[in-house]
Amino acid sequence: MRIEVVAVGTELLLGQIADTNSAWLGEHLAGAGIASHFHQAVGDNHRRIVLALRTALARSDGVIVCGGLGPTHDDITREAIAEVMNVPLRRDESVVAAIDALFSSRGRTMSPSNLRQADVPEGATIIPQTKGTAPGLICPVGHKVVYAVPGVPYEMADMFDRGILPDLRQRMVERGETTGVIASRVLRTWGMTESGLADVLADHIAGLDVSPSPSPSPSPSPSPSPSPSPSPEPVTAGAGGGATIAFLASGIEGIKVRITVRADDDAAASALLDDEEARIRTILTAAAGDIVFGVDDEAIEHAVARALSVDGLTIGLAESLTGGLASSRLVNVPGASHWLRGSVVSYASDVKFDVLGVPVGPVVSEDAARAMAEGARRVLGADVGLAITGVAGPDPQDGQPPGTVYVGLAVDGRDTEVTAFSVPGDRARVRQYATIAALDLVRRRLGRRSQPLR
Ligand code: ATP
Ligand code: MG
Repeated sequence: MRIEVVAVGTELLLGQIADTNSAWLGEHLAGAGIASHFHQAVGDNHRRIVLALRTALARSDGVIVCGGLGPTHDDITREAIAEVMNVPLRRDESVVAAIDALFSSRGRTMSPSNLRQADVPEGATIIPQTKGTAPGLICPVGHKVVYAVPGVPYEMADMFDRGILPDLRQRMVERGETTGVIASRVLRTWGMTESGLADVLADHIAGLDVSPSPSPSPSPSPSPSPSPSPSPEPVTAGAGGGATIAFLASGIEGIKVRITVRADDDAAASALLDDEEARIRTILTAAAGDIVFGVDDEAIEHAVARALSVDGLTIGLAESLTGGLASSRLVNVPGASHWLRGSVVSYASDVKFDVLGVPVGPVVSEDAARAMAEGARRVLGADVGLAITGVAGPDPQDGQPPGTVYVGLAVDGRDTEVTAFSVPGDRARVRQYATIAALDLVRRRLGRRSQPLR
C-alpha cells in the first residue's frame, strides 16, 4: 500500500504553523512498514481540497487527510470527501449523541455548529472520538480509501494508532502484502563534503543497486489502477531486503549518511542496520579517517562527552573567538558536571595575558593558542585544555583575515598541539564553525572511535 498524506489548512500555506502532522505521519507510516511517496498541503478551499484528494487517489492506494474537521465554516474536509466519493453527507445520530455527551460532561451545551461534525459521507465508517469532538472517518473510494482525522496533533496521532493503522494492516493482508517495518539510522559525519562522501561510497552504493527490489515499497498486488513503480531517488540505492543510502547535509553540523532498511520486525531491522553501519564505517574510515562522530540525534558535544568519559578525563576551555559557544555546547550534555571544569572567556587580550599566562604578543597566533590551552588546563585544573582564538570579522586582526582560527589542545602527558585553519562565512558562521571544529578535534585526538551510546 502506498499512502499519501494531505494536510489541510491555509495556516500551513501561510507558514503560520509548521506541518508537524505530516512529519509525524511519515515517521509512523515508515515505522509500520508502509510506503508514502507524496505529501501535500492545501488551504481551506473546497475546490482545491477536492483536487488534492483526487490527485492523491490517482497515484496512491490510500490517503490520510488531516485537518478541517472542526465545527467552523472553514472546516470543509467532510464536504470535499463526500464530493470525491460522489455521495451525500448524512447526520450520524450516534456521533451527535457522543458530542452532546462530551459537552455535558464539561458542563457546557453543544452549539448548533457542532452538529456539522456529526455529518458523515454515506458509506463511510467512523473512528470514534475520545479526545475531541470530531470523529475520524474511513471513507472507501472504489478499492482505495480516504482516512480523515482532525488537525489537532494529539487527536490525529490517537486516531492513527487506534483507527487508521489497524484498518491499513487489514487491507494489506487482504492484498497479500507483507507487513513489516522500515527503519533508519543516521551516521553523522564531520570534515567531508557531501560530494566527497558520495564519491567514497559510490562503489558500495553501486553494489547495493545490483541487488533486486530497489525500493522499500512492495509492489502492489491486484491494484485497481496502474501504479508505476517509483524511480529511485538520487544518491539512493537499494538492496533486496537490504539498505538504501541517502546523504543529507545538515548545515554547519556536518553531513548525515542515512541508512534505511526494510525487515519483518524491529529486531531484524536492527540487525540489518548494524551490518550496514559496520560496512559504511569501514569504508569511510579507510578513505577519510575517523569522520563519523555520532549516530542519529547525537551531536558533536555528545561525542566529546563520550571520548572524555571513557578515560574519566576532565576538560577546561579558554575561548576567545567563540565567546563561550564551545562550553555552552558541552553543557547541553546531561551530566556535563562530571567532566566539564569550566571555561575562561578570555576575550580581551589582557585577560589572556593576566589570567591564562599567555605571553604578551599577537593573540591570534599559534603561540597564543598553545599558551591559552595550557593556561586553561592549569587554571581550571583539568586533564584536557582546549583553546580557541581567531578572527570573527568583519575586520582583520593582528594582520590576519576574518575566518582565521587557531585551536590549541593541551592533554596531560602529551605535547600541546595547535591546529590552524581558515573558514568562510560571516561572523556568526565563523564562530559556529570554529566551535564545532574545535570540539571535533578533541573527539578525534582523544583517540576513541565514536561508538554509539546504545
Ligand atoms: P478542530 O476540531 O480543532 O477545529 P480540525 O480538524 O478542524 O480540528 P484544524 O482546524 O485544521 O483541525 O486544526 C486545528 C489545530 O490543529 C490548528 O490550529 C493547529 O494548531 C493544529 N494543526 C492543524 N493541522 C496541523 C498540521 N498539519 N500540523 C501541525 N498542527 C496542525
Ligand atoms: Mg478547525
